Amino acid sequence: MNAPPHLAGFLIKRQTSEGSTVSYQDRNIACRDCNREFVFTGGEQEFYASKGLMNDPVRCPDCRAARKSARSTLESDSGYVRYGGAASFSGRTPRQMHPATCATCGEMTEVPFIPRGDRPVYCSSCFSKVRQEQEAAAAAQPSPAPSAPPVELAER
Ligand SMILES: [Zn+2]
Ligand SMILES: [Zn+2]
Repeated sequence: MNAPPHLAGFLIKRQTSEGSTVSYQDRNIACRDCNREFVFTGGEQEFYASKGLMNDPVRCPDCRAARKSARSTLESDSGYVRYGGAASFSGRTPRQMHPATCATCGEMTEVPFIPRGDRPVYCSSCFSKVRQEQEAAAAAQPSPAPSAPPVELAER
């Protein structure tokens, strides 16, 4: 039997399969970013629990939205940024693939990082070829010459 949905309820009770009652009560949490208190509602807690998320949100909805929109910039600044519990909300695989063009054969491929143009991107078959060549080259010269020491600026 289902309890009638009650949108206004501050206390949401739920029967688990074991028969115990889990209740979710609205809680105030101080936002990590702006220090403002926000309400982590019983409904949200239930939603988090249904997703298997044990961590409480640490940011208010405003800051969460702000971070979400800043996400692409953050990613390109520091590689992958993890968003705690919220990261699995979309239900997608954690590795996001980015389209890229293979530097050797020109085929379109996908890579698990953002291609920045400072290093070539290869498709998987070219990548293994390049790897083999690099390994062969590394084996051919066991002691690579140390790179020139940084030039010091002469004091004047
Ligand atoms: Zn905030
Ligand atoms: Zn290729």
